[in-house]
Amino acid sequence: NKGNIVSDILVLAETENNHLHSTAGELIAAGRKLADELGNQVCAVITDDVDESSFKNLIHLGADKVYVISHAELSKGNIDAFVSYLEQICIQINPNVILTSRTYMGRNIGARIAYRLESGVAQDCIDVEIDKNSSRVIATRPVYGGNAVARFTFNQDDPQVIILRVKSFDSNEIDTTRNGSIEKLNISIDNDAIKLKLIETVKEESEGIRLEDAPVIVAGGRGLGGPEPFKQLEELANIFDGAVGASRAVCDAGWMDHAFQIGLTGKQVAPDVYITVGISGASQHMAGCLGSRNIIAINNDADANIFKDASYGVVGDWEKVLPSFTEAVRDLLKS
Ligand code: FAD
Repeated sequence: NKGNIVSDILVLAETENNHLHSTAGELIAAGRKLADELGNQVCAVITDDVDESSFKNLIHLGADKVYVISHAELSKGNIDAFVSYLEQICIQINPNVILTSRTYMGRNIGARIAYRLESGVAQDCIDVEIDKNSSRVIATRPVYGGNAVARFTFNQDDPQVIILRVKSFDSNEIDTTRNGSIEKLNISIDNDAIKLKLIETVKEESEGIRLEDAPVIVAGGRGLGGPEPFKQLEELANIFDGAVGASRAVCDAGWMDHAFQIGLTGKQVAPDVYITVGISGASQHMAGCLGSRNIIAINNDADANIFKDASYGVVGDWEKVLPSFTEAVRDLLKS
Protein backbone atom coordinates (compact mmCIF):
# COMPACT_ATOMS: atom_id res chain seq x y z
CA ASN A 1 0.00 0.00 0.00
CA LYS A 2 2.79 2.44 -0.81
CA GLY A 3 1.51 5.90 -1.69
CA ASN A 4 3.51 8.65 -3.26
CA ILE A 5 3.95 10.76 -0.13
CA VAL A 6 6.75 10.23 2.40
CA SER A 7 5.82 8.20 5.46
CA ASP A 8 4.52 10.30 8.32
CA ILE A 9 3.09 10.07 11.79
CA LEU A 10 -0.70 10.04 11.54
CA VAL A 11 -2.69 11.23 14.52
CA LEU A 12 -6.46 10.86 14.96
CA ALA A 13 -7.63 14.22 16.32
CA GLU A 14 -11.00 13.59 17.95
CA THR A 15 -13.67 16.24 18.34
CA GLU A 16 -16.26 16.72 21.05
CA ASN A 17 -19.26 19.06 20.96
CA ASN A 18 -17.82 20.78 17.89
CA HIS A 19 -14.48 21.46 19.57
CA LEU A 20 -11.12 19.75 19.59
CA HIS A 21 -11.00 16.94 22.15
CA SER A 22 -8.24 17.50 24.72
CA THR A 23 -6.53 14.31 23.52
CA ALA A 24 -5.82 15.88 20.10
CA GLY A 25 -3.03 18.03 21.55
CA GLU A 26 -1.69 15.12 23.59
CA LEU A 27 -1.40 12.89 20.52
CA ILE A 28 0.25 15.63 18.50
CA ALA A 29 2.82 16.07 21.31
CA ALA A 30 3.53 12.32 21.22
CA GLY A 31 3.67 12.43 17.42
CA ARG A 32 6.13 15.35 17.51
CA LYS A 33 8.42 13.40 19.84
CA LEU A 34 8.63 10.63 17.22
CA ALA A 35 8.63 12.83 14.13
CA ASP A 36 11.46 15.03 15.41
CA GLU A 37 13.59 11.91 15.89
CA LEU A 38 12.68 10.40 12.54
CA GLY A 39 12.77 13.64 10.59
CA ASN A 40 9.26 13.26 9.25
CA GLN A 41 5.96 15.03 9.71
CA VAL A 42 2.98 14.89 12.01
CA CYS A 43 -0.34 14.71 10.16
CA ALA A 44 -3.63 15.09 12.01
CA VAL A 45 -6.91 13.73 10.68
CA ILE A 46 -10.00 15.58 11.85
CA THR A 47 -13.68 15.69 10.93
CA ASP A 48 -15.16 18.93 9.62
CA ASP A 49 -17.77 19.28 12.38
CA VAL A 50 -15.66 21.84 14.24
CA ASP A 51 -14.91 25.52 14.01
CA GLU A 52 -12.47 26.29 11.17
CA SER A 53 -10.04 27.69 13.78
CA SER A 54 -9.61 24.16 15.17
CA PHE A 55 -7.69 23.14 12.05
CA LYS A 56 -5.20 25.96 12.61
CA ASN A 57 -5.06 25.08 16.30
CA LEU A 58 -3.82 21.62 15.40
CA ILE A 59 -0.93 23.23 13.52
CA HIS A 60 -0.24 25.60 16.42
CA LEU A 61 -0.13 22.56 18.70
CA GLY A 62 2.54 20.91 16.54
CA ALA A 63 0.95 19.28 13.49
CA ASP A 64 2.54 19.87 10.07
CA LYS A 65 -0.45 18.81 7.99
CA VAL A 66 -4.13 18.63 8.76
CA TYR A 67 -6.41 16.37 6.73
CA VAL A 68 -10.07 17.29 7.04
CA ILE A 69 -12.62 14.59 6.33
CA SER A 70 -16.34 14.98 5.95
CA HIS A 71 -19.27 12.56 6.14
CA ALA A 72 -22.52 12.69 8.09
CA GLU A 73 -21.70 9.38 9.78
CA LEU A 74 -18.30 10.68 10.95
CA SER A 75 -19.97 13.57 12.75
CA LYS A 76 -22.18 11.06 14.55
CA GLY A 77 -19.07 9.23 15.74
CA ASN A 78 -19.75 6.14 13.65
CA ILE A 79 -16.68 3.98 14.14
CA ASP A 80 -17.27 1.94 10.97
CA ALA A 81 -17.09 5.17 8.98
CA PHE A 82 -13.91 6.28 10.73
CA VAL A 83 -12.18 2.98 10.06
CA SER A 84 -13.10 3.09 6.37
CA TYR A 85 -11.91 6.69 6.00
CA LEU A 86 -8.67 6.07 7.86
CA GLU A 87 -8.00 3.01 5.75
CA GLN A 88 -8.31 5.10 2.59
CA ILE A 89 -6.10 7.85 4.01
CA CYS A 90 -3.46 5.32 5.01
CA ILE A 91 -3.46 3.87 1.50
CA GLN A 92 -2.87 7.38 0.15
CA ILE A 93 -0.27 8.66 2.60
CA ASN A 94 1.30 5.45 3.84
CA PRO A 95 2.07 6.55 7.42
CA ASN A 96 4.71 4.66 9.36
CA VAL A 97 3.01 5.31 12.70
CA ILE A 98 -0.65 5.83 13.63
CA LEU A 99 -1.51 7.24 17.05
CA THR A 100 -4.97 7.14 18.62
CA SER A 101 -6.09 7.84 22.19
CA ARG A 102 -7.45 5.31 24.60
CA THR A 103 -10.86 6.96 24.46
CA TYR A 104 -13.94 4.97 23.50
CA MET A 105 -13.43 6.01 19.87
CA GLY A 106 -9.66 5.84 19.75
CA ARG A 107 -9.26 2.40 21.22
CA ASN A 108 -11.87 0.94 18.90
CA ILE A 109 -10.56 2.65 15.80
CA GLY A 110 -6.88 1.94 16.61
CA ALA A 111 -7.41 -1.79 16.95
CA ARG A 112 -9.63 -2.04 13.88
CA ILE A 113 -7.43 0.01 11.58
CA ALA A 114 -4.48 -2.16 12.56
CA TYR A 115 -6.47 -5.23 11.54
CA ARG A 116 -7.56 -3.66 8.25
CA LEU A 117 -3.98 -2.76 7.38
CA GLU A 118 -2.71 -6.18 8.47
CA SER A 119 -0.57 -4.49 11.05
CA GLY A 120 0.03 -4.79 14.79
CA VAL A 121 -1.25 -2.62 17.61
CA ALA A 122 0.20 -1.67 21.00
CA GLN A 123 -2.68 -0.87 23.34
CA ASP A 124 -2.90 1.15 26.56
CA CYS A 125 0.54 2.76 26.16
CA ILE A 126 1.92 5.56 28.30
CA ASP A 127 5.03 6.49 26.32
CA VAL A 128 6.58 6.20 22.88
CA GLU A 129 10.15 6.63 21.74
CA ILE A 130 12.28 5.73 18.76
CA ASP A 131 14.75 2.85 18.92
CA LYS A 132 17.93 4.49 17.63
CA ASN A 133 19.16 1.27 15.97
CA SER A 134 16.06 0.15 14.14
CA SER A 135 14.19 3.50 13.85
CA ARG A 136 11.12 1.55 15.00
CA VAL A 137 8.84 2.76 17.77
CA ILE A 138 9.23 1.43 21.28
CA ALA A 139 5.91 1.68 23.11
CA THR A 140 5.73 1.46 26.90
CA ARG A 141 2.68 0.13 28.71
CA PRO A 142 1.85 -0.84 32.30
CA VAL A 143 1.30 -4.56 32.86
CA TYR A 144 0.23 -6.77 35.79
CA GLY A 145 -2.18 -4.13 37.10
CA GLY A 146 0.45 -1.42 36.99
CA ASN A 147 3.06 -3.38 38.97
CA ALA A 148 5.50 -3.40 36.05
CA VAL A 149 5.97 -1.70 32.72
CA ALA A 150 6.73 -3.51 29.48
CA ARG A 151 8.33 -2.07 26.36
CA PHE A 152 7.09 -3.30 23.02
CA THR A 153 8.35 -2.92 19.51
CA PHE A 154 6.92 -3.91 16.16
CA ASN A 155 8.30 -6.57 13.90
CA GLN A 156 5.88 -6.32 11.02
CA ASP A 157 5.56 -3.80 8.22
CA ASP A 158 4.24 -0.32 8.89
CA PRO A 159 2.08 1.18 10.07
CA GLN A 160 2.87 0.77 13.73
CA VAL A 161 -0.43 1.49 15.50
CA ILE A 162 -0.22 2.78 19.06
CA ILE A 163 -3.12 3.55 21.38
CA LEU A 164 -2.04 6.01 24.06
CA ARG A 165 -3.57 6.43 27.48
CA VAL A 166 -5.33 9.75 27.97
CA LYS A 167 -3.08 12.33 29.65
CA SER A 168 0.08 10.30 29.21
CA PHE A 169 1.44 13.26 27.21
CA ASP A 170 1.04 16.98 27.88
CA SER A 171 -0.08 19.07 24.92
CA ASN A 172 2.58 21.42 23.62
CA GLU A 173 2.17 25.14 24.24
CA ILE A 174 0.24 26.85 21.45
CA ASP A 175 2.73 28.37 19.00
CA THR A 176 0.91 30.74 16.66
CA THR A 177 4.01 31.19 14.51
CA ARG A 178 3.89 27.57 13.34
CA ASN A 179 2.83 27.00 9.75
CA GLY A 180 1.36 23.95 8.11
CA SER A 181 -1.08 22.86 5.46
CA ILE A 182 -4.78 22.16 5.78
CA GLU A 183 -6.21 19.89 3.14
CA LYS A 184 -9.81 18.83 2.70
CA LEU A 185 -9.59 15.26 1.54
CA ASN A 186 -11.97 13.96 -1.03
CA ILE A 187 -12.33 10.34 -0.16
CA SER A 188 -14.99 7.99 -1.28
CA ILE A 189 -15.78 5.00 0.81
CA ASP A 190 -18.08 2.11 0.23
CA ASN A 191 -21.20 3.08 2.19
CA ASP A 192 -22.09 -0.61 2.43
CA ALA A 193 -19.01 -1.01 4.63
CA ILE A 194 -20.77 1.08 7.29
CA LYS A 195 -22.67 -1.68 9.01
CA LEU A 196 -23.05 0.19 12.28
CA LYS A 197 -26.18 2.33 12.63
CA LEU A 198 -26.25 4.90 15.38
CA ILE A 199 -29.81 5.00 16.64
CA GLU A 200 -29.41 7.26 19.65
CA THR A 201 -26.64 8.83 21.70
CA VAL A 202 -27.36 8.99 25.43
CA LYS A 203 -25.17 11.29 27.49
CA GLU A 204 -23.99 10.02 30.86
CA GLU A 205 -25.74 12.19 33.47
CA SER A 206 -23.15 13.83 35.65
CA GLU A 207 -22.90 16.98 37.66
CA GLY A 208 -19.81 19.11 37.66
CA ILE A 209 -16.49 18.32 36.03
CA ARG A 210 -15.76 14.88 34.54
CA LEU A 211 -13.38 12.70 36.55
CA GLU A 212 -11.06 12.36 33.57
CA ASP A 213 -10.82 16.15 33.14
CA ALA A 214 -10.54 17.16 36.81
CA PRO A 215 -7.24 18.81 37.81
CA VAL A 216 -7.77 17.60 41.38
CA ILE A 217 -9.51 14.40 42.48
CA VAL A 218 -10.45 13.51 46.05
CA ALA A 219 -11.00 9.75 46.20
CA GLY A 220 -12.54 7.86 49.09
CA GLY A 221 -12.12 4.26 50.18
CA ARG A 222 -13.62 1.68 52.51
CA GLY A 223 -11.91 3.43 55.43
CA LEU A 224 -14.61 6.11 55.25
CA GLY A 225 -17.07 3.59 56.67
CA GLY A 226 -20.11 4.50 54.56
CA PRO A 227 -21.56 6.80 51.90
CA GLU A 228 -22.17 9.85 54.13
CA PRO A 229 -18.52 11.05 54.37
CA PHE A 230 -18.40 11.50 50.59
CA LYS A 231 -20.15 14.85 51.17
CA GLN A 232 -17.02 16.01 52.97
CA LEU A 233 -14.84 14.77 50.11
CA GLU A 234 -17.03 16.73 47.72
CA GLU A 235 -16.58 19.85 49.85
CA LEU A 236 -12.79 19.55 49.50
CA ALA A 237 -13.01 18.75 45.78
CA ASN A 238 -15.23 21.79 45.18
CA ILE A 239 -12.59 24.15 46.53
CA PHE A 240 -10.35 23.11 43.63
CA ASP A 241 -13.17 22.77 41.06
CA GLY A 242 -12.19 19.12 41.22
CA ALA A 243 -14.10 15.85 41.31
CA VAL A 244 -14.75 12.97 43.68
CA GLY A 245 -13.63 9.41 42.96
CA ALA A 246 -13.86 6.10 44.80
CA SER A 247 -12.22 2.73 45.23
CA ARG A 248 -13.88 -0.42 43.98
CA ALA A 249 -14.62 -1.53 47.55
CA VAL A 250 -16.76 1.59 47.91
CA CYS A 251 -18.59 1.05 44.62
CA ASP A 252 -19.12 -2.65 45.27
CA ALA A 253 -20.64 -1.73 48.64
CA GLY A 254 -23.07 0.57 46.80
CA TRP A 255 -21.83 3.71 48.60
CA MET A 256 -21.01 5.33 45.26
CA ASP A 257 -21.98 4.52 41.68
CA HIS A 258 -19.46 2.54 39.62
CA ALA A 259 -19.06 5.60 37.37
CA PHE A 260 -16.85 6.99 40.17
CA GLN A 261 -14.59 3.93 40.39
CA ILE A 262 -10.92 4.50 39.71
CA GLY A 263 -8.55 1.67 38.95
CA LEU A 264 -7.79 -1.28 36.76
CA THR A 265 -11.47 -2.03 36.18
CA GLY A 266 -12.60 1.57 36.62
CA LYS A 267 -11.53 4.90 35.19
CA GLN A 268 -7.93 5.84 34.57
CA VAL A 269 -7.12 9.35 35.64
CA ALA A 270 -4.03 11.54 35.76
CA PRO A 271 -4.86 14.76 37.64
CA ASP A 272 -2.34 17.25 38.99
CA VAL A 273 -3.29 16.24 42.52
CA TYR A 274 -4.90 12.98 43.63
CA ILE A 275 -5.99 12.98 47.29
CA THR A 276 -6.94 9.61 48.78
CA VAL A 277 -8.90 9.25 52.00
CA GLY A 278 -9.19 5.80 53.60
CA ILE A 279 -7.82 3.98 50.55
CA SER A 280 -5.26 1.22 51.12
CA GLY A 281 -3.51 1.63 47.77
CA ALA A 282 -4.05 -1.87 46.30
CA SER A 283 -2.23 -2.28 42.99
CA GLN A 284 -5.55 -2.55 41.14
CA HIS A 285 -6.55 0.86 42.48
CA MET A 286 -3.18 2.41 41.77
CA ALA A 287 -3.35 1.18 38.16
CA GLY A 288 -5.96 3.90 37.65
CA CYS A 289 -4.16 6.84 39.22
CA LEU A 290 -0.41 6.33 38.99
CA GLY A 291 -0.19 8.93 36.23
CA SER A 292 -1.18 11.62 38.79
CA ARG A 293 1.45 14.32 39.30
CA ASN A 294 1.09 14.30 43.10
CA ILE A 295 -0.60 11.79 45.36
CA ILE A 296 -1.60 12.87 48.87
CA ALA A 297 -2.81 10.14 51.24
CA ILE A 298 -4.81 10.22 54.46
CA ASN A 299 -4.84 6.82 56.13
CA ASN A 300 -4.66 5.68 59.75
CA ASP A 301 -2.30 2.79 58.98
CA ALA A 302 1.30 3.96 58.58
CA ASP A 303 2.11 0.69 56.74
CA ALA A 304 -0.65 1.11 54.14
CA ASN A 305 0.54 0.58 50.57
CA ILE A 306 -0.68 3.99 49.50
CA PHE A 307 2.21 5.67 51.33
CA LYS A 308 4.66 3.96 48.92
CA ASP A 309 3.22 5.96 46.02
CA ALA A 310 2.16 9.13 47.82
CA SER A 311 4.40 12.19 47.70
CA TYR A 312 2.70 13.54 50.85
CA GLY A 313 0.76 11.71 53.50
CA VAL A 314 -0.96 12.07 56.85
CA VAL A 315 -1.16 9.06 59.16
CA GLY A 316 -4.36 9.55 61.10
CA ASP A 317 -8.08 9.12 61.38
CA TRP A 318 -9.73 10.85 58.42
CA GLU A 319 -12.48 12.19 60.68
CA LYS A 320 -9.90 14.27 62.49
CA VAL A 321 -7.58 15.05 59.57
CA LEU A 322 -10.00 15.88 56.76
CA PRO A 323 -11.84 18.87 58.31
CA SER A 324 -8.62 20.68 59.27
CA PHE A 325 -7.01 19.72 55.92
CA THR A 326 -10.02 21.21 54.10
CA GLU A 327 -9.89 24.37 56.21
CA ALA A 328 -6.15 24.77 55.60
CA VAL A 329 -6.62 24.37 51.84
CA ARG A 330 -9.46 26.90 51.85
CA ASP A 331 -7.31 29.43 53.75
CA LEU A 332 -4.30 28.85 51.51
CA LEU A 333 -6.28 29.36 48.33
CA LYS A 334 -7.90 32.51 49.72
CA SER A 335 -4.59 34.21 50.43
P1 FAD B 1 -9.37 -1.38 51.84
O1 FAD B 1 -8.33 -2.13 51.15
O2 FAD B 1 -10.25 -2.08 52.81
O3 FAD B 1 -8.64 -0.16 52.55
C1 FAD B 1 -9.24 0.72 53.46
C2 FAD B 1 -8.13 1.60 54.03
O4 FAD B 1 -8.71 2.57 54.88
C3 FAD B 1 -7.11 0.83 54.87
O5 FAD B 1 -5.80 1.10 54.38
C4 FAD B 1 -7.29 1.39 56.27
O6 FAD B 1 -6.06 1.53 56.96
C5 FAD B 1 -7.88 2.74 56.01
N1 FAD B 1 -8.73 3.24 57.10
C6 FAD B 1 -9.64 2.55 57.84
N2 FAD B 1 -10.23 3.37 58.74
C7 FAD B 1 -9.68 4.59 58.56
C8 FAD B 1 -9.86 5.86 59.20
N3 FAD B 1 -10.76 6.02 60.18
N4 FAD B 1 -9.12 6.91 58.81
C9 FAD B 1 -8.19 6.77 57.80
N5 FAD B 1 -7.99 5.59 57.14
C10 FAD B 1 -8.72 4.52 57.53
N6 FAD B 1 -9.95 -1.66 43.32
C11 FAD B 1 -10.11 -0.38 42.91
O7 FAD B 1 -10.12 0.56 43.71
N7 FAD B 1 -10.31 -0.12 41.59
C12 FAD B 1 -10.31 -1.08 40.64
O8 FAD B 1 -10.52 -0.77 39.45
C13 FAD B 1 -10.12 -2.44 41.05
N8 FAD B 1 -10.10 -3.44 40.15
C14 FAD B 1 -9.86 -4.72 40.59
C15 FAD B 1 -9.74 -5.75 39.64
C16 FAD B 1 -9.45 -7.03 40.05
C17 FAD B 1 -9.32 -8.11 39.02
C18 FAD B 1 -9.31 -7.31 41.45
C19 FAD B 1 -8.98 -8.70 41.91
C20 FAD B 1 -9.44 -6.31 42.37
C21 FAD B 1 -9.72 -5.00 41.97
N9 FAD B 1 -9.83 -3.97 42.89
C22 FAD B 1 -9.97 -2.68 42.45
C23 FAD B 1 -9.91 -4.21 44.35
C24 FAD B 1 -8.62 -3.94 45.08
O9 FAD B 1 -7.83 -5.11 45.07
C25 FAD B 1 -8.90 -3.55 46.55
O10 FAD B 1 -9.65 -4.55 47.14
C26 FAD B 1 -9.65 -2.22 46.69
O11 FAD B 1 -8.99 -1.22 45.96
C27 FAD B 1 -9.67 -1.84 48.18
O12 FAD B 1 -10.38 -0.67 48.34
P2 FAD B 1 -10.07 0.28 49.58
O13 FAD B 1 -8.67 0.74 49.53
O14 FAD B 1 -11.16 1.32 49.59
O15 FAD B 1 -10.36 -0.67 50.83
